[in-house]
Amino acid sequence: MTIHYSICPVQPENHLFEVQIRIPTPDPAGQGLWLPDWIPGSYLIRDFARQVIKVNASCQGQEIGCEKIGKAEWRCDPCQGELLLEYQVYAYDLSVRGAYLDNQRGFFNATSVFLAVKSQEQQACEVDIQPPVDERYSHWKVATALLPAGARELEFGSYRAADYDELIDHPVELGDFDVVSFEAAGVPHHFVLSGRHNADLPRICKDLKKICETHAGLFGGSLPMDRYWFLTLALGDAYGGLEHRASTALVCKREDLPRKGVEGIDKGYRRFLGLCSHEYFHSWNVKRIKPLAFTPYVLDRENYTRLLWVFEGITSYYDDLGLVRSGLIKPEGYLELLANSITRVWQTPGRFRQTLAESSFDAWTKFYKQDENSPNTIISYYVKGALVALALDLTIRRETAGKLSLDDVMGAAWERFGKTGLGMPEDGFEALVHEVTGLELKGFFDAAIRGVEDLPLQELLQDVGVGFTLRPAENAQDQGGHGARTAAPVSRISFGMKTRDENGRCKVLSVMADSPAQVAGISPGDELIAVNELKVTHASLDILRNRLLVDKPVTVHLFRRDELLVTCCTPRLAPADVCQLSLDAAAAPEAVKARGLWLAEPQV
Ligand code: ZN
Repeated sequence: MTIHYSICPVQPENHLFEVQIRIPTPDPAGQGLWLPDWIPGSYLIRDFARQVIKVNASCQGQEIGCEKIGKAEWRCDPCQGELLLEYQVYAYDLSVRGAYLDNQRGFFNATSVFLAVKSQEQQACEVDIQPPVDERYSHWKVATALLPAGARELEFGSYRAADYDELIDHPVELGDFDVVSFEAAGVPHHFVLSGRHNADLPRICKDLKKICETHAGLFGGSLPMDRYWFLTLALGDAYGGLEHRASTALVCKREDLPRKGVEGIDKGYRRFLGLCSHEYFHSWNVKRIKPLAFTPYVLDRENYTRLLWVFEGITSYYDDLGLVRSGLIKPEGYLELLANSITRVWQTPGRFRQTLAESSFDAWTKFYKQDENSPNTIISYYVKGALVALALDLTIRRETAGKLSLDDVMGAAWERFGKTGLGMPEDGFEALVHEVTGLELKGFFDAAIRGVEDLPLQELLQDVGVGFTLRPAENAQDQGGHGARTAAPVSRISFGMKTRDENGRCKVLSVMADSPAQVAGISPGDELIAVNELKVTHASLDILRNRLLVDKPVTVHLFRRDELLVTCCTPRLAPADVCQLSLDAAAAPEAVKARGLWLAEPQV
């Protein structure tokens, strides 16, 4: 029997969604209800139930008891006949992971607002999305990949989902947003944009179409869904996305969107397209090709897998690669992005302390709960995972003389795990690589996934005509890039700490293990005041530092909380941890050919 959900932003200005659930055949012994503690795609226990306000239950019009029996669990008194639940949800989380409501717009994931009906999670769901009561909101619309069940496209009314699992995989946007549509690989796509903006929407559609079709090409040319929605919120400064089976929820920086009349792709727009590309690639990799540990998701606790690097790392590899393969950016632009990723990994000492398998497994408590010491102890399964995907791709290409690549492995993963819905076992990815390529790569995976040594990227990139150099950072913002540096290498000085500007004050963000700063007792949170008895700010520290001499001690004045401290710090030579990549003009013809195959659009 269909479970009927109804949600209404009665007065959006109070940030409360009013929710009703009608359960036609409740458990006669007392119906249980629960709310997820996390949302798939974001591996952190978030306790959404803390925003649920007073659940009232009634049976055939008579109020009955509904008791809270756990942090996100309820049980109603026995009821013969239809059970009705009513409650409110406070919605004021601007992220893509929760629910939000104000007098400008609304947004929700069902994981935040719709209680699951215990033991009836497989039942079909109908969702009545109702408009606010006040006339002021009469221009509000609805955008969601939920299938209409009476509602007309973009209108309030009835929608449906096959079961609770599907219900929580279709976020909903409410408000007076802009929407443009396009077709990619024969499937209708909609780009929804909320928030103030001056974006060139037709341009975004044209560019997204190329990305969508490039990814589709990798997986055989067709899409695994019959509709797709990009639900985007533009803000002054934001970046993030969450993947769903037929949509993605995105937040972006307003300035990253292309303005009308402006051509070309600047760094901001490239970042936005990379985000869209990433979430869209997830339509295959993690939404349908899933680890066994997520089949099904268990939503009241952490779901552990050592494979998150496959799902986030490989997706992060293909997100930027998709931009160059679809012709939106040039190889030089792609190499710049790649060099930035390499720099991020090479500047993280935690890569020697945590393997990629451990990073995946501990995502819940380490990657998602980062603190000032994280750079010393963890490595991102996104960024290093993308580099492992690159190394694996280039290794397969080299060992098979260009006949096979990671594209073939992903195509096979789609056939084996995506189309079938079978979960990928913990050893499934490595076994599949062996099966598809015939290569014995246990040594590669032992080192890349279960080891901590640096990847042999210089040698692998050489095979595809890409030059790789490492040099010291020129300043705190230096993330490396494309092209050889013409200036002679300058020896740089380092304290081994990161600082940031806080209202003109120079705050220590993190201190690298065993660095001169740590040896001197400088700690995260300290406010640096003077070096060598000269006042420092975040901006002047770079300049000042490079006037110092290696191994010559300097005095550092700082505040720790409200206490003035003075210490002695002996700077050292900055490590060469910034990557420059370049198209090697002297590359052999085979390498140039291999590069062409690597960066070209996959052939369907
Ligand atoms: Zn992702």
